[in-house]
Amino acid sequence: MSISNGSATASASTERPAVVRGRLANLPVAGTKRVLLAAPRGYCAGVDRAVVAVEKALANFGAPIYVRKQIVHNRHVVATLEARGAVFVDDLSAIPAKSRVIFSAHGVSPAVVQEAEDRELVAIDATCPLVTKVHREAVRFARGETQILLVGHAGHEEVEGTMGHAPDRTILVTSPEQADQIDVHDPDNLVWLSQTTLSVDETMETVRRLRVRFPQLADPPTDDICYATQNRQVAVKKIAPECDVVIVVGSSNSSNTVRLAEVARSAGARAVYRIDYASEIEQEWLDGAGSVGVTSGASVPEELVLEVLEQLSDAGYSDVQNVVTAEEDLMFSLPKELRTDPDGVADDRGPGGRRRRLDWQS
Ligand code: SF4
Repeated sequence: MSISNGSATASASTERPAVVRGRLANLPVAGTKRVLLAAPRGYCAGVDRAVVAVEKALANFGAPIYVRKQIVHNRHVVATLEARGAVFVDDLSAIPAKSRVIFSAHGVSPAVVQEAEDRELVAIDATCPLVTKVHREAVRFARGETQILLVGHAGHEEVEGTMGHAPDRTILVTSPEQADQIDVHDPDNLVWLSQTTLSVDETMETVRRLRVRFPQLADPPTDDICYATQNRQVAVKKIAPECDVVIVVGSSNSSNTVRLAEVARSAGARAVYRIDYASEIEQEWLDGAGSVGVTSGASVPEELVLEVLEQLSDAGYSDVQNVVTAEEDLMFSLPKELRTDPDGVADDRGPGGRRRRLDWQS
């Protein structure tokens, strides 16, 4: 279920298509067929926390649980939670007073928190802690009267949330080209921060060009592009040069997914396709392809990747080579309202506990 109430609904509009085995033909290619499976891929700690937060809220308090915006940018995840009683809204005005609302992993501005209070909503904040870290940096620099050059994409929810923490002190820089054009108040008192899900290489180019103009530009205290975004880009860069085709699983509004496709392209993959579901793979994509790369964005459940591997196996790509460039075991604790169930039993997730372990993972 979803509510629009005067603004475009944030909900997923489609259901997951059935997986049809044998749909793709096993056509001959020169050489052998194989899949290079990038690792890390898929769920990051912030997405895991946010999705579990909605699941726990539904279990503890019952439906409906309202969620401001998509909890994470993945159609399948949103549709699955909707089917269980989550109600995704774009605007808090769509929510009845005194209802529970969860803020998404992308974070919110202080104005949204205030609006929730004004509407007497019971808010649970599922903002990824790594986004909250950027919010804190923005507040701290703004207090010190430093101007913030925020590298990010206009209109992205995370960028709106971060800018909302220092609205008078932040200038958004959306591209390397824009870095050549922005005006600042004081070139000697500047810091750059960034959205967490950007291309590392493009961001560094933007910063390089900013620094040409503003040599005193300070760096963030720690990397703002998060570990998960960086790790997934490193992994796809490793496989892409060896791939005829790279399939990136993830939704079109997922920033880190779209960046993965861009990185794969610039790293040398002959062709790159982004899909939500395995049913979208087309036979012609595989024409003459010996090596097919597979990866997935940070909001993608592993079951969707498994379905891609099944379809590829039907097409003769049953040799799956796991290419690991980093190990991840980070896990964030749940929002405090959800750390115990109604009987007081504590959350017992282990590190990475929701991931399905694959046969070919050691
Ligand atoms: S991609 Fe990074 S910042 Fe975004 S939810 Fe995942 S860990 Fe957090």
